[in-house]
Order: sequence, then structure tokens, then C-alpha cells
Amino acid sequence: DGPMAEQSAEVIRTLLRHGHEAYWVGGCVRDEYMGRRVSDMDITTSALPEVTCSIFPKVIPTGIKHGTVTVLMGEQAFEVTTYRVESGYEDHRHPTEVSFVREVKEDLRRRDFTMNAMARGIDGTWVDPFDGRADIDKQLIRCVGDARLRFREDALRMVRCIRFASVFGFSIAPHTWRGILSERDTIGWIALERIRSEFEKIMAGPSPLRGLEMFVRSGLHARMKVPFPYTGHDKDTIAAIDRIGPEQSWIRWSLLLLSCGISAQEAERLLRLWTFSNRQREAIVKLLKLHESYMQLPGDREAHIRIDWIRLVLAQGAEAAHSWLSMQKALQETGTASISWDRIKQLERWQQDLLIRSLKDLAITGSELLEALGKPGGPWLGELLGQLLEKAAAGDLNNDKESLIDEAKRVVIHNEGI
Ligand code: ATP
Ligand code: MG
Repeated sequence: DGPMAEQSAEVIRTLLRHGHEAYWVGGCVRDEYMGRRVSDMDITTSALPEVTCSIFPKVIPTGIKHGTVTVLMGEQAFEVTTYRVESGYEDHRHPTEVSFVREVKEDLRRRDFTMNAMARGIDGTWVDPFDGRADIDKQLIRCVGDARLRFREDALRMVRCIRFASVFGFSIAPHTWRGILSERDTIGWIALERIRSEFEKIMAGPSPLRGLEMFVRSGLHARMKVPFPYTGHDKDTIAAIDRIGPEQSWIRWSLLLLSCGISAQEAERLLRLWTFSNRQREAIVKLLKLHESYMQLPGDREAHIRIDWIRLVLAQGAEAAHSWLSMQKALQETGTASISWDRIKQLERWQQDLLIRSLKDLAITGSELLEALGKPGGPWLGELLGQLLEKAAAGDLNNDKESLIDEAKRVVIHNEGI
């Protein structure tokens, strides 16, 4: 149900009215059978792409050569793909030839796993020639056809296999697993962003740990073009990954990096190689930086711990601080936290009590400050603003122009006195 189901049904009905066959296919059929939330509804049809284009008023010829047309219906967009087979995967990733075929079953044969090779008709009919439903019932990931050949055609399927097993909590059928072991050397052919994208799904799943372990057991991790951050030495830190919610996958990545003893600086490099987006990379690196700075706080500054912590929070941002505290709580649960539960609670309170969180919250700007002090700008200004922010955030200084200027003058006179 919902507008997506309704509109996609309308696309299928329209194709049928014009005398063609059409079915829902792939992920949406699988997800519906499993009772999972369906993300997008793909349609497969006997109609040739040009014909599909001529039937619907609003279409985007997304991949006409491969038979894919995006049909816009209401607010929704659907990929409508002509029954096709693929051949000539010389590079273990791209078919060199696509040909259209007449039978839906032939189209299903080119798909990767039995659970992804099912089609469903508008009247409720199932086209399930490889017993995908039976495999789903048995919680098994199984290749369509000979696993070795299928992985040799497209090496990404090996990672998809592990991703589905991890996200669904399924097992991998023995023949399929042996296929991975036999073809794993071809993983280097696959673009990193495609592998990363599968890993993001693993990391956003209910239990990334299983996926990570399967990836390592398969030996794929050691055959990548870039290092895979898993040593397995620090089991407790790795175990904390599953205790972080799936919506906070950057904390899960941070734990993985931490478990290998990778520094914030090394992480920055590695995440670039792994083609992470700037946003993701920054979130992880800030968290690791905050972790490093906290661990480097001298033990004899207990009296200053509050202001030291506030300084760290202001330097890496409230988001990183919040994430780091969640990470510490997870580590606490697996018995490997570097700080006590009471300390976590205390840091959390101090962070929540911050009155302001960044320079833009300060009641004065740099240029206003220059004018009030009657001094030319310089590197000292940034430092001064930082000090004012720290005090105002901690509540040791009122955040209004007058108080800030008074304090600034006091600091400047003090510094010039030295
Ligand atoms: P997700 O829930 O991540 O969208 P999905 O199975 O729908 O999973 P898609 O990448 O959206 O994955 O692909 C849609 C369908 O296309 C799959 O269900 C499968 O039938 C087929 N497919 C996708 N990638 C491959 C591949 N590498 N080899 C063979 N078939 C594939
Ligand atoms: Mg999909």
C-alpha cells in the first residue's frame, strides 16, 4: 500500500493494457515477502524501451541501451526495465553485451541471488523459478546458477552476498560460499565506491559485526586495493560496534578504526582512499581527534578537567562530543572503556550545560572586538576569541558585548604586561 505501491501498480496496469507483460521485480518483491520496508519498486516488462517511452507521457531515458526507462507517475519515479540478459563480463564488473529477451524467467536468471530473482504480478502471481521464497524461509543467500561463474562475471556480487547475509542475519549457502573463496582474487577489479556503498549498508544494519567477520573469513579483506581496517586484535572494542544504533554508523566506523589502533590522522587518509564523503569523513575524524585529545589529557589536571573537556568539545564540536560519549557508553558495556561511568555522566552534564557552542554564538564579532580594542588584527585575535568563547560557554563570563569587551581588555593588558 501507500502511494508508491499504488502508482507502480498503475504503471504495470498501463503496460498490460497495451498488451505487454509487466511485473514487480527484485528487491521490492523480496522485501515485501520478508515483511521489510520497501524502498523502491522496480518493474520488469516485455515491452522494448522505445515502446515504454511511447506509452507513458513522462519518462526519462535513463539507460535506454540497457533497457531501462524511468517512468514518472504522480510524485513517484519507477525504473522500468525490459527483460534482458547480459554477457561478456571480461572485466569482472561490466557486461559488454545486453540483449532483450522474451521471457521473464530468462531475465530473472541474470540476477544475483535466488531471493532477488523473483517477480510478482499485479494479480498476485509469483514468478519464482529458483525458489527464492524457500531460500528466504530457510534464511539462505544462494546464487542463481553456478556461484563461481556468477562471481567471476561480477565480483561485486561477493560483497553483496555478505551484505545481504549480514543485514538480514542469513547464512550463505555452502556452494555460494565456496564460490567466494574460489573467486575472491577478482575483488580488486571493483571500484572502491561500490564496495564502500555495500559496507555502508552493512554498517547501517542490525549487526555489522557478522558482516565484518564474514568479510574477513572470506579473505576478501586482504585482497582489496586499499587496506581494510580490521585486525581483530581488540575484540572488546569491535564488540562495541553492535551496541551502537544503526543510525549512528559513523560511530561504528570510528570503533572499527579504533580497534586497529588507527590514529585520527591515518583515518583521514584511509577514509579518503575509501572514497567516503567529506561529511562522513569529518564526522569520524573529529570523533577520533576528540578521543585522542581526551586520552592525552595529563592525569594531574583533575582540578581542570571541566575546562579541559569544554575546550575539547568546542574544538571538535558538540556533535563529535555527543558521539564520543555514546561510544564510551558502548565500550563501557563491553568492558573496555577507558573512563569510568561516573566520569561519562559528568562529562555529559558539562556538555549539556554549555551555554554557547561556537564562535557564531558569541555576542561579539572579531571586527567589533578590534574596534573596541583599537588594535590592528593578527593571530592573537583568534586566540582571544577562543578564550572568550571558552569562558562564555562555561558560564564564567556573561555573553553580552560589554562583559566580553571588558574581559578582552583585561586579557590584552595582562598579556602586554608580560
Ligand atoms: P537494496 O535493498 O539494497 O536496494 P536490491 O536487491 O534492490 O537491494 P539493487 O542494487 O537495488 O539491490 O538491485 C535491484 C535488483 O537488481 C536486485 O534485486 C537484483 O535482482 C539485481 N541486481 C542488482 N545488482 C546485481 C548484480 N551485481 N548482479 C546481478 N543482479 C543484480
Ligand atoms: Mg533496490
